Amino acid sequence: MARSAIAEKIQKLREKIRYHEHRYYVLDEPEISDPEFDRLMQQLKQLETEHPGLITPDSPSQRVGGAPREGFVSVRHQRAMLSLENAYAYDELGEFDRRVREGAGRGSIEYVAEHKFDGLSISLQYEDGVLARGVTRGDGSTGEDVTANVRTIRAIPLSVDTTLLKKHGIGRDFEVRGEVIMTRKAFEELNRQQEEQGGKRFANPRNAAAGAVRVLDPTITASRRLGFYAYQLLVGGRVPVKNHSDALEALSRLKFKAGGDWEKCAGIDAVIRYCERWETKRERLPYQIDGIVIKVNSTALQEELGFTAKAPRWAIAYKYPARQETTVVKAIRVQVGRTGTLTPVADLEPVEVGGVTVSRSTLHNLDEIERLDVHVGDTVLIERAGEVIPHVVKVVKHGQDEKPFRMPEKCPECGSRIHKAEGEVAYRCVNAGCPAKRKESLLHFAGRHAMNIDGLGEKLVDQLVANGLVKDPADLYHLKLETLSNLERMAEKSAQNLLEEIEASQKNSVARLIYALGIRFVGERTAQLLAEHFGSLHRLAAASLEELTEVHEVGPKVAESIAEFFSERANRDLLKRLEKAGLRFEEKRARPKGTRLAGKAFVLTGTLEKWTRDEAQELIESLGGKVTDSVSKKTDYVVVGAEPGSKLDKARSLGVATLDEKAFGRLVGKS
Ligand code: AMP
Ligand code: ZN
Repeated sequence: MARSAIAEKIQKLREKIRYHEHRYYVLDEPEISDPEFDRLMQQLKQLETEHPGLITPDSPSQRVGGAPREGFVSVRHQRAMLSLENAYAYDELGEFDRRVREGAGRGSIEYVAEHKFDGLSISLQYEDGVLARGVTRGDGSTGEDVTANVRTIRAIPLSVDTTLLKKHGIGRDFEVRGEVIMTRKAFEELNRQQEEQGGKRFANPRNAAAGAVRVLDPTITASRRLGFYAYQLLVGGRVPVKNHSDALEALSRLKFKAGGDWEKCAGIDAVIRYCERWETKRERLPYQIDGIVIKVNSTALQEELGFTAKAPRWAIAYKYPARQETTVVKAIRVQVGRTGTLTPVADLEPVEVGGVTVSRSTLHNLDEIERLDVHVGDTVLIERAGEVIPHVVKVVKHGQDEKPFRMPEKCPECGSRIHKAEGEVAYRCVNAGCPAKRKESLLHFAGRHAMNIDGLGEKLVDQLVANGLVKDPADLYHLKLETLSNLERMAEKSAQNLLEEIEASQKNSVARLIYALGIRFVGERTAQLLAEHFGSLHRLAAASLEELTEVHEVGPKVAESIAEFFSERANRDLLKRLEKAGLRFEEKRARPKGTRLAGKAFVLTGTLEKWTRDEAQELIESLGGKVTDSVSKKTDYVVVGAEPGSKLDKARSLGVATLDEKAFGRLVGKS
């Protein structure tokens, strides 16, 4: 292929990838699956490896690059990154409105209300439409250059469409300010990982996001799945459009995630209604907000009002009352989890926090107890955020008890030995049959994100396990109405409902079932990826370590844990019984498949004339075959196009059949 044709091909591929990045990371509406996306990226990387002269810094393949640095360089901000004045009551918003109206000499002001993201503010500087620098707020006048790190955040465009800039009268050199955030989900997953790998927990998503941006190694930033919300557009330090709302709209068009459910408000009463509306709704947002930012919409009026030394006069942050309360620790108990992990829990003097009565709070682990220096009898500050269980923020006053908390030497549930693995924070009960583990596994299996068996709560599981009616999830599918309705506090009607729930759960997706099995390190997302990749529980169970690590985001540690799970006799038995019970083990395919290539595994290398990689792949899959990324003994054919890569050598050394384009055409019946 001529160089210009390759350049064009690369360009097309980049545009396609950018399009899908935008769908996924900005709009939250992906059109293709993760493996499909990975394939596009793989194709691009392959082409770029073959033609390194064509790599540009704004290529989507170039997000993570460069070695860890020694330190950060300080950069001066063109326009200071100020903080915001705070309001804690609606009265104060009224005051703010009065001052603005006086300054403007007008009766009513148009405002924009938007979410106050709880993350780390960042200034992104674009030159000639390409991201040139990312700088932290720092002290407001100078920040740190964290360019290599912010480049890894997929919601941040590495370049923008310059024709769009022109169309909207925005200069090619511009600045976007916004907040780097971590979603609650990514945060919880990160903490779970940290805990299982013996690392430190992060206190909140803001700290986790800030930590991830301020590390010297960009590969760490890349692994933290950060998000970015833009809330300001500047050219030469000034707002280039008439209204703040125009800026937010322009940012969206430039493919940023702009504002957070922002709204124009005619007057301060509308602003207050917006604040009220989001007070409870914010709990259900995927990210944390600590308030609402209110900004004067008109740019001209913003300029007229100007700044104080610390903050703009045209904006204010309304802060929601913290969901924090103080109470006394009555006891510290230990709970045994699904994997046998012992988790210390504080029993609290019941207290109301933001409308909910709280009587216990997790203390996570021994390290956390030591860090907090908490004892029975201490007065503590607790906090509730979102749907997560409340946690202890700090001790406000120590009580009489100076005795440090100790982990029990025997499992509080079954009396077995407790083991602490080298380098791990967690203590675990070694008894595989520990009833606590059984109960927790069942609760996990039935959980909302797993098999979603509503009505199978803690009390019921306790009874089922204590009476020996259920030992593992497969037993659930053999429960009889009679047995159930004989249980304490179980009316026949609710027993019937439960049986229906259990039966309905048989139809759940393979992804849910994989997650429900409770394999260590396999969270919801990983389960989804595994289901997409293998399409069947049997194939997953039979996968080698090598095949497992072929899955996007599955590292050696996760792969090992999966392989270990399926190598256990007890788990294999469980699978058999689950299958017999009628659970779904094979993912239904969306498209009916041909059978011409059924069961055949293909690897593609080099460039074909008639088909792009995607098209060839679709063709193979439509005929029942599958395409994998690397050549192994299990590969049936390697399809070799022009300028093949190292996969051809690998095929030859393993003796795998190779097909040129013609032969491939004949095989698929399209020659
Ligand atoms: P504070 O740190 O409490 O003084 O609040 C000011 C900070 O709020 C800014 O520096 C931003 O990092 C952050 N912030 C979060 N969301 C917004 C938003 N929508 N508009 C402006 N600033 C925001
Ligand atoms: Zn035990």
